[in-house]
Parts: sequence; structure tokens; C-alpha cells
Amino acid sequence: MSDNVPAKVTVVNGRYKFENKFHHPEKNQPIWDDKGVLKGITNPRNMTYVHAYGGEAIFFESMSKGKLIATRCDNPDCVTKGSIYMPFRIHCPDCLARTSTVDITDRAKANAIVHSFMITERTGAFNTLPTPIKFVNIEFDGVCTILMGALVRGEPSIGMKVVPIFKTQDPEYIITDMLWVAEGTSANDLPEGYTF
Ligand SMILES: [Zn+2]
Repeated sequence: MSDNVPAKVTVVNGRYKFENKFHHPEKNQPIWDDKGVLKGITNPRNMTYVHAYGGEAIFFESMSKGKLIATRCDNPDCVTKGSIYMPFRIHCPDCLARTSTVDITDRAKANAIVHSFMITERTGAFNTLPTPIKFVNIEFDGVCTILMGALVRGEPSIGMKVVPIFKTQDPEYIITDMLWVAEGTSANDLPEGYTF
């Protein structure tokens, strides 16, 4: 089989079925010094990573449709029953029951504010966010946790109102399908592919 065929995963009878190659070693390259003496080699290795979403899949699928889905503990015996979690938690951290999903899109659009923020020029590998990255910790009315996001329009300040935008065109089903902008940002000024 050709090395050029992309790795592919489908689901058959509720299980992942893997096809083609997921690991691609490439030709090593010598590293020479300025006198022509061998100092080492590079070992290029490409791999296709598989991230199973499990119970969080609905969160990622919903962002592609412009929806922000949180979870809530509805266990009547739980001391924190009714707590709403964003980031999405599959299980209640207090009673470990399976949580219910709850759509907080309208809540996020109406009353999300910056709790704190951090601006950094240094990024991790494969960064796709514009630099400097403006990380914002987002507080929602009625939600008991804080969500980390990236502000891509406006300058962050504590308490400022922000609204989510979603990559509804060509979504990638990763967390950057949702970004944040200052309240009042024009729909014409959003990054390509994103909508309110
Ligand atoms: Zn609970």
C-alpha cells in the first residue's frame, strides 16, 4: 500500500476501524558542521494522532453548529445538584454521576465576561492562534466553573463583556472552532469561517 494514502478511521459495529498507515518514517538527514564532520542526524517521523472524543463528542459537534453545550449534575442525591459545568464535564466531580447536557449558547452571548486574562508571545508546538495570544478566562452567569478561551478581537480587560464566535464554515471539530471577541464586534470583522 502506498505511503501517500491518508490514514483513515471509520466506525464499524461501534468500534474504530483503522485503515492505511498511521506512522510514516522519512529518510534521515545527516547534520554536518562547517568543517564537514558528521555531528548527528535528524530522524523525521510523521504520525497521525487519533483523539477519541467519547462523551465529549457532542460538545465539539455542537460548536460546528454555533452552539455551546455545557453539562449539569441532575442527581437528586448530589449536594451540588444543578451545578452547571463549562468546560464540559462528562461526570459530576462531586457525586461522579453522568451529567446532563445543557445549551448555554444564549447565556454565553448575553453575559459572558472576562474573569482574568494572560497575553503571551510564546506558543506551544503547532500553534494556530494569532500572536500575541490573548488567553481569557471566561465567567458565565450561573456557571460554577471558568472556561479558558482566546480573544481574537479587542483588548482584554477584567470584567469586559465578550461573545463567542464559532467556525461554522469548514469546522475542524477542535476547541479553536470557538473563539471570543469583544462585545460589539462587527460580523464583518470576524476571522474567516467564523460566525456569531
Ligand atoms: Zn453531582
